[in-house]
Amino acid sequence: MKFNTVSGCSGRTQTTYHAEKQYADRFESDIPLISAWKRGVRVEAPDKHYDEARLYPPADLLMTAKGGDITTVMFASQTRILAPGKVRCDGCDYLHEPIRTAETCPWCGSTADVGRSAGAIKLTVKGGN
Ligand SMILES: [Zn+2]
Repeated sequence: MKFNTVSGCSGRTQTTYHAEKQYADRFESDIPLISAWKRGVRVEAPDKHYDEARLYPPADLLMTAKGGDITTVMFASQTRILAPGKVRCDGCDYLHEPIRTAETCPWCGSTADVGRSAGAIKLTVKGGN
């Protein structure tokens, strides 16, 4: 078991054993959980209790943290998520932060028509509630 930490605008965040285990058991991802968190897009999950939630679209991964600990991981497609201010890439259909002309989508590298903010995006989920 390892507890990795990152520094960011929200301070130090670390993973918990529970979250690491859930991540290892349920998600097929080739990057450490803490890296997914670091790269993740900050979103809101109205049905969950947390201090900060981040979405890592390539793995359909939603992570929530409390008190600097990533406590829970879950499938984003099964969770109600709000992503105010985020944009959806035309190339890969993943959410990301609005980007400038010279930048590319962080997930697929696409430069085509990215960065158009559509305002608040509401994800339609299957099997919610
Ligand atoms: Zn993309």
